[in-house]
Amino acid sequence: MKHKKRNIQIISIYAVIIAAFLGSTVLFFRIHTSVLKSSIEAETNLFASLLHNTLVHEFPGFDAFDKEKASAVIQKTINEHEEEIADLDIWVFSSDGTILSEDQSIRNADGAARALQTAGESGAEEGWLGTQELLLLRKNYYVIRPLFEGKADLVILNYCVEAHALQRKQAAMFLGVMVTLLLLVTVLIANLINNYRTQLIRMATTDELTGLMNRKAFNAEISRFFESDHKDASLFLLDIDFFKQINDSKGHAAGDHALRFLADRIQEMIQSCGGFAGRWGGDEFIGVLNQDGTNALRSLEQLCRTIERSELPEGLRMTISAGTADFGKETEFTALSEKADAALYTAKENGRNQAKLYQKGMMSETVSVSESAMPSESRKTESVLRPESMPDSGTDQLNETEETIEPEQVRKKFSEIIRTKLIPSILSGVHWMAPFVAGGGILIALAFLFDAASVDLSSLSVEARAQFGSITPLAAALKDLGGVTFNFMLPVFAGFMAAGLAGEDAFMAGFVGGYMTIESNSGFVGAMIAGLAAGLIANEIQQFTGRLPAFIRKAAPIVIYPVFNLILMQAITTLMITPVSAMIGHLFSDLLSKAELFSEAAAGGLSAMMMAVDMGGIVNKVAYNYGVNGLLANRTKIMASVMIGGMVPPIGIFLSMLLFPGKYTNEERERGAGVLFMGLSFITEGALPYVFTDPLRVIPCCMAGSAAAGILSAVCGCHLPAPHGGIFVFPVMTHALLYAIALLIGSAITAVLLGFAKKPKQDSGS
Ligand code: GH3
Ligand code: MG
Repeated sequence: MKHKKRNIQIISIYAVIIAAFLGSTVLFFRIHTSVLKSSIEAETNLFASLLHNTLVHEFPGFDAFDKEKASAVIQKTINEHEEEIADLDIWVFSSDGTILSEDQSIRNADGAARALQTAGESGAEEGWLGTQELLLLRKNYYVIRPLFEGKADLVILNYCVEAHALQRKQAAMFLGVMVTLLLLVTVLIANLINNYRTQLIRMATTDELTGLMNRKAFNAEISRFFESDHKDASLFLLDIDFFKQINDSKGHAAGDHALRFLADRIQEMIQSCGGFAGRWGGDEFIGVLNQDGTNALRSLEQLCRTIERSELPEGLRMTISAGTADFGKETEFTALSEKADAALYTAKENGRNQAKLYQKGMMSETVSVSESAMPSESRKTESVLRPESMPDSGTDQLNETEETIEPEQVRKKFSEIIRTKLIPSILSGVHWMAPFVAGGGILIALAFLFDAASVDLSSLSVEARAQFGSITPLAAALKDLGGVTFNFMLPVFAGFMAAGLAGEDAFMAGFVGGYMTIESNSGFVGAMIAGLAAGLIANEIQQFTGRLPAFIRKAAPIVIYPVFNLILMQAITTLMITPVSAMIGHLFSDLLSKAELFSEAAAGGLSAMMMAVDMGGIVNKVAYNYGVNGLLANRTKIMASVMIGGMVPPIGIFLSMLLFPGKYTNEERERGAGVLFMGLSFITEGALPYVFTDPLRVIPCCMAGSAAAGILSAVCGCHLPAPHGGIFVFPVMTHALLYAIALLIGSAITAVLLGFAKKPKQDSGS
């Protein structure tokens, strides 16, 4: 039952991964084909117009149409474009359907006839045919143009210029590469899931200290053993003598060492006699030997002697006692273990450092003794016999525990991975990225400062103000340098995050992946995905190549890692990050247009909030472009809300560091002044180092503050006739004072929310 459930879970995970990959491949091709389709449409229409005009010009009327001459005219027009045309079919039909002229290059009369028929039925605008649009883009757009007042038609089919033909070939090749990659990624992911599952199973079934089976795994194993045809086997119980004294006199570490030492000797005995063993708890071990009682007794006696003679570090010596019981006809674990326990108890009673085989009568004696004379030991062995997890009889329930992975264990494992791997790798990425943010941001802010000091903004036109920050040569140089530095921000983050996850082999792919997010506008989320993906890919490839022959393994860091990592990074960026960010961009764009219809305050609040969603990512860019477009259309109110939304996050974080210093690390607080300067200059990216380390808390707090400030700005009727500049463009604003108050309120909201939401940092206050 449980196996079935688990398999369904794993199959579902694979299915989701494959569906996501296939889905994004299809999405990519849809986008690609629609772009290609529109350019082919445009080119075909252009060529059709050209030919149409030429024909109409050459022939004064339908009556003057001459087949030979028309062919020559068509041929001449084609020749003029010959170098760029890869494929083309042309007809001139009279309205009764007779062909008046046809181009010599017609290759596929059947296909052409069918296409013409479709065009006739559904109109020339129908364009490409059905599913072929997706499959390697075989069919092209075609055009029908009436000639001589509809007495004839010019039909152009299969028109395709070289560039498009090349794109089609590339698309086909790309599809092939993608399918191969899909297979590769599926294998890698399957391997990843399998390794992870094996690890979890091992964790759930192994005793951490000794490496033997834990109690749960032993229960499962013994129940299987009872179900099997077991002959000549014995169950044994084993306990270290006076173990408490070892702990007390030599310390727990020595005690642990003694436990591991004994476990190794038990393992050796199992290897030579056959059977299995586990740690039952504390200093007690349990196991099955594939020997009858007498031989098992001999093996255990031998083990007692080995332990007695062994000297552990620091001169530590110990002895053990053991009890065993022959399986005989016993069918219940509980009954059998009571017998072994009685034998163990007898061994202890008889002076320890020995093994005993269960004999009739032992049980009753031990129970009576245990109840009176030796309470502590007997209680202990009683508990061995009846653990809560152990059913008294029957094996069905035992089967249930087989390879069970508790949700709690999965959660623990995940939080361990996040705590020990993911968070340190993000912190390392932020550590290396922070100087790029500060350096680039402050240079751009200085550029605004220089321009503000050198030019009178109010005397400039809107277009000229758009150049603010690059008006004077010094400012332009600073802004350019700042921009270049900013471009390294996400690649550096993703590169070092990847390196933190999988070592230096992952750095390059992470760096390039981070760079690719700039083009896809996926911002910090994209960079995090890129860093994570590069780390995971490198980890998997390391495991993969670890199994290959040495000469390949040695070449891996130079050849295999770079190439595979890059190709996989490209696939992930092209198939997942880019289309998803494009989709999110569209979604927010739609939302903005709806909010605009609703009210100015709603549009102001939404656009300001969007500025804080991904700080430089697609949502931020959609909002910013919305503001700039408004500005160009002389609607300057929206630009004011957009700018305030981008200023609140860094300023709010700065205020929050002032008000709640204990919630930030020293390193974070030391960056404070730069963050404030960037916030005042409308460089939202200044907040990024804080976002990366705690996105789930920082982003919503920033969004709330930005939205509030954006609404206030719109309600107060603030107008901003410049697309950037922060406080440096306040002099050209309408209601600058109200705007400054709105900015302060929004930032204070973010600061207070952050103060409540964030957890205290360990090195705070030091
Ligand atoms: P006896 O000969 O009667 O068995 O005496 P004992 O001192 O060995 O008594 P008992 O078996 O009850 O003591 C078990 C001790 O094992 C108690 C506990 O402190 C210690 N112990 C349990 N688990 C661990 C462990 O993982 N590491 C160490 N170092 N000690 C453990
Ligand atoms: Mg003991």
